[in-house]
Amino acid sequence: MDNIGSIKGVGSKTIDTLNKLGLYTISDLIEYYPYRYNVIQLVNVNDINDNENIYTIKGIVDTEPKVTFIKRNLNRMTFRLNSNGILVNVTIFNRAFYKNNLKLGRVINVIGKYDKLKNTFTANDIKFEIINDMKIEPVYHLSNGVKRGNLVKIIDEAFKTNFDLEDYIPDYLVSKYQFMDKKTAALKIHFPLSGSGIKKAKVRVIYEEFFKFMFKMNYLKYRYDIHNEGLSRNVDKTLVDEFIKSLPFTLTTDQEAAVNDIYNDLTDSKRMNRLVLGDVGSGKTLVAEIAMYMNYLSGYQSSLMAPTEILARQHYANMLDLYKNTDVKVGLLVGSMKKSEKTKVYKQLINKEIDIVVGTHALISEGVEFNNLGLVITDEQHRFGVNQRSNLQNKGTMCDVLYMSATPIPRTYALTIYGDMDTSIIKTKPNGRKDIITKVVKEKDLKDVLLHMVEEIKEGHQIYVVSPLIEDEEGESNINDVVKLKEKFDLAFHNKIRVEILHGKMKQQEKDNIMEQFKNGDIKVLISTTVIEVGVDVKNSTMMVIFNAERFGLATLHQLRGRVGRNSLQSYCYLICNMEIERLKVMEESNDGFYISQKDFELRGEGDLFGVRQSGDMVFKMGDLRRDYKILLQCKEDSREFLLANIVNNFRNYPQYRDLLKQLEHID
Ligand code: ADP
Ligand code: MG
Repeated sequence: MDNIGSIKGVGSKTIDTLNKLGLYTISDLIEYYPYRYNVIQLVNVNDINDNENIYTIKGIVDTEPKVTFIKRNLNRMTFRLNSNGILVNVTIFNRAFYKNNLKLGRVINVIGKYDKLKNTFTANDIKFEIINDMKIEPVYHLSNGVKRGNLVKIIDEAFKTNFDLEDYIPDYLVSKYQFMDKKTAALKIHFPLSGSGIKKAKVRVIYEEFFKFMFKMNYLKYRYDIHNEGLSRNVDKTLVDEFIKSLPFTLTTDQEAAVNDIYNDLTDSKRMNRLVLGDVGSGKTLVAEIAMYMNYLSGYQSSLMAPTEILARQHYANMLDLYKNTDVKVGLLVGSMKKSEKTKVYKQLINKEIDIVVGTHALISEGVEFNNLGLVITDEQHRFGVNQRSNLQNKGTMCDVLYMSATPIPRTYALTIYGDMDTSIIKTKPNGRKDIITKVVKEKDLKDVLLHMVEEIKEGHQIYVVSPLIEDEEGESNINDVVKLKEKFDLAFHNKIRVEILHGKMKQQEKDNIMEQFKNGDIKVLISTTVIEVGVDVKNSTMMVIFNAERFGLATLHQLRGRVGRNSLQSYCYLICNMEIERLKVMEESNDGFYISQKDFELRGEGDLFGVRQSGDMVFKMGDLRRDYKILLQCKEDSREFLLANIVNNFRNYPQYRDLLKQLEHID
């Protein structure tokens, strides 16, 4: 049995928590790789001369630990540590559960910051497996209820079971590149002994990951090439022009060019396969909406798929308004709708009582059938997996396909991945837009930001606040989570300004409710996680305040910042962090997404084996487009050759690829 339940020590409670991480089988678990490593190096307390950096020291527990419960979710434990004869006062928050392990006389490591003057060591963590010199420790994405140590133990036990790992690298390539065996690689990655050992193992994992991905991309291209005859259609250009003229503003030059490209594609007998790449706020939605109008004029149905419900609902509301003087009938389909509501939409789609449907991945579910789907659009395309995109196209036989993306990766990389698609690039911003004034601010200077917030609100404007976490379950006390921030702001504003929170764990109805009230201006400050990152458009908001900005990649920060500056008002963005972060300066310097993503890639640097990964939109588990670009190019070529050589016999020697294709074709 390849089920995680068969691993020693894994009971039903652990199974539940592992399932939440998307782990069901032993191989899922084995392939749940760390996203980075901590290098822990032991130092002598005497040698610590700053109160800024994190250090690891060793010592003997010298007094019984004392625990104080400060409030719900917050406790403090203190004890004395004898480190090489120096008696240090250790404080640690939210680790009361360690108390029983901290027996007098026990040798431990504590990791944290040391204040020499006060002789206090504020620890983030305590280690009981002693580090005497240096240790490389993998860091995993964890969820509620799984602790790092537990996960490592479970993975260790998993390796002792008899399991199979599906290897997607064809055998001839394994020998060509002299890759190590997949299990060996996995073992080295989870239990690293040296940096160089990890590196070789990682290359193998990355190659497989890229190979599989590029295989799918190549396959979609292949499928497009052999079925590229499209719908023959007529689009009445004068009606399109009239529609564009009726809009409240004129199109930018690049929007106009993109619309033209799409018009040519739609009226051509070849199927459209186009990517519209444009910076945040460049007005891609409108281009999509015009495309769908053209498709409507030629008599076909369109679907627009968005990555979140918030975004789908926003598009829906906009389109009701945009098409109000036409006969276009718009429908909405999202996961949280009642069964009866969905069934109604299904019916309307098949009877062609809906011309344009907008929704989330609910659009690709079983029940959805169209009368004559002619155009399929995915918004924020880089947010979707290849499978999901493929499945939507399968709903219509000869559909034209359009992808919209504010891709967080530089153009060269985007083109390698989305490769052989036609592209339209939108660089120009709508008229009258001002650059967003951006400042990196240390947390201790937050007061200035608060004052500015009050000013903006007095002007009648609104503000987004973003935090990396909903609630700081790991107890990393330096993170301003959403919940803490609300308390903080309510206090600062004496409850006189309406502050609300929005995050992914809330019920759909609550989210809609909050979003609605933010849109109509009742809520002045909206604190959220990165759920707000994609697409949301509230023109009246003029300020974005991002806490723990050091936790986000530049591309994500740019996307977040793109929520403001959506009209001619001057907008501002504050990046709050605890320390000096060089790369954040790029945000102060530039408002150009293409430039920022390029910089992001440059700054992350080559071979940063121990570097911090981007948070947010991580397409690959281990691969890094810039660092591993050569591998990506190689995989593109290798997987293409492999595809062409084996598709003729339906991958006779590669059953794992038959399964992969089934997923892409959505045949169960
Ligand atoms: P994107 O999806 O590219 O990030 P949006 O489509 O959300 O950007 O557009 C950003 C904002 O600009 C929207 O409020 C939209 O109504 C507005 N907009 C789009 N095109 C124009 C234009 N040509 N002139 C003025 N405003 C525009
Ligand atoms: Mg958009």
